[in-house]
Amino acid sequence: NEEADWALVDSGEDADGESFVPMPTLAVVGRPNVGKSTLVNRIIGRREAVVEDVPGVTRDRVSYEANWSGRKFMVQDTGGWEPDAKGLQQSVARQAELAMQTADAILLVVDAVVGATATDQAVARVLRKSKTPVILVANKVDNERGESDASALWSLGLGEPRPVSATHGRGTGDLLDDVLAVLPETPREDSGAVGGPRRVALVGKPNVGKSSLINKLSGDERAVVHDVAGTTVDPVDSLVELGGKTWRFVDTAGLRKRVSHASGAEFYASLRTKSSIDAAEVVILLIDASEPLTEQDQRVLSMIADAGRALVIAFNKWDLVDEDRRLQLEKEIDRELARVPWAQRVNISAKTGRAVQKLVPALETALESWDKRISTGPLNTWLKEVIAATPPPMRGGRLPRVKFATQAATRPPTFVLFTTGFLEAGYRRFLERRLREEFNFDGSPVRISVRVRE
Ligand code: GDP
Ligand code: GDP
Repeated sequence: NEEADWALVDSGEDADGESFVPMPTLAVVGRPNVGKSTLVNRIIGRREAVVEDVPGVTRDRVSYEANWSGRKFMVQDTGGWEPDAKGLQQSVARQAELAMQTADAILLVVDAVVGATATDQAVARVLRKSKTPVILVANKVDNERGESDASALWSLGLGEPRPVSATHGRGTGDLLDDVLAVLPETPREDSGAVGGPRRVALVGKPNVGKSSLINKLSGDERAVVHDVAGTTVDPVDSLVELGGKTWRFVDTAGLRKRVSHASGAEFYASLRTKSSIDAAEVVILLIDASEPLTEQDQRVLSMIADAGRALVIAFNKWDLVDEDRRLQLEKEIDRELARVPWAQRVNISAKTGRAVQKLVPALETALESWDKRISTGPLNTWLKEVIAATPPPMRGGRLPRVKFATQAATRPPTFVLFTTGFLEAGYRRFLERRLREEFNFDGSPVRISVRVRE
């Protein structure tokens, strides 16, 4: 019943009107079939929220908003995920490690009826080192007789096992009280996979000015930070102080040494570009403003877009740009950069130092968008209005209905629309445009997936 769906969304839980409240994250980990998805659904109070195979959404980490005793938090579900070829034990341990790096509290779910398996023990071993609070859940304790099964899980070395029945709800209220007791009010600052300074990649075709820019930015010896408390600096990265903050420019060793662009080096340069982009959170794409945009610029742009990184485009060599070239460049931008209208743009000169300080606010805006989370309430209020004003086009004589939306991930912001019927690509693009207008994701890609349920 669709009215009921909307009622759920509009229940006033976000009546404070705040769209960008950062919420702490509770990660639910454990091996398959212990009842993680059942527990997540119990926690978020919805029966049908498990996202199955959604293209574009990393299936291993889908988050939902939850509310217990008036406190809101995100629940990160690893339930739909299948172990990969590396083997169950290693895959589950990897999930746990990821949770330790990104979540604010962790539930390790174990099947109390089965007892601790080798995989459970391996994960527990990983989690015992966790600085993030871990609560051990003994699931499938459907009645009092099961309590002794739960007690056996003390052996995992993670403290007192909390007996619950995810299917019946037994013990889950007490569990959530315990969760709230350890969950911080606000999310950790460094919820990226690696904490510390934000990671920036500086990429662009040969001779565009990458070495010159990194030298300019770090040229002043005092700007180069060699040591930040609690971080180990990969020797191939540079820590650079800009705008009062420390940034980690990844993979700059070669740039600082100024490797020569020998013939045949381009293939390797492109491999390195890819790995730099992957290692970064935000990318500065340098483009030579004094020359026409090239296919090589486009290729790097595609790599960045595919990787889903935040983006700042820096038009370098601006000191060589005259009025004629500027007008020409604007046309090229309209034509060639149309796929990233949201990218932050700055015009700089690495040689003279012109406007290089403008990179800082551009990087900050891009990262803020990349990290942004829109609460389910305001998201669905907005969605309902947009759809009422401009409904999706008919498909096969039927009007597809968009029932509900949720932001399933950040970095980049990833939204899942639950629909009946297929949404055309054009309508999805329309929704993305409107979403950007409403919530502002400047500098970040946004992904929208559609989950069709008949
Ligand atoms: P996941 O793979 O860890 O996400 O596990 P699921 O949530 O898909 O649950 C696996 C199976 O265990 C399903 O058949 C559930 O119905 C069942 N299950 C989950 N929680 C409980 C519980 O508390 N008691 C019992 N008896 N079965 C449960
Ligand atoms: P990379 O291959 O991307 O690392 O490029 P380099 O930093 O080595 O620069 C290639 C050439 O462009 C060098 O001769 C630089 O002096 C020159 N260059 C770099 N930035 C600028 C700029 O802003 N203005 C001008 N006029 N030349 C620049």
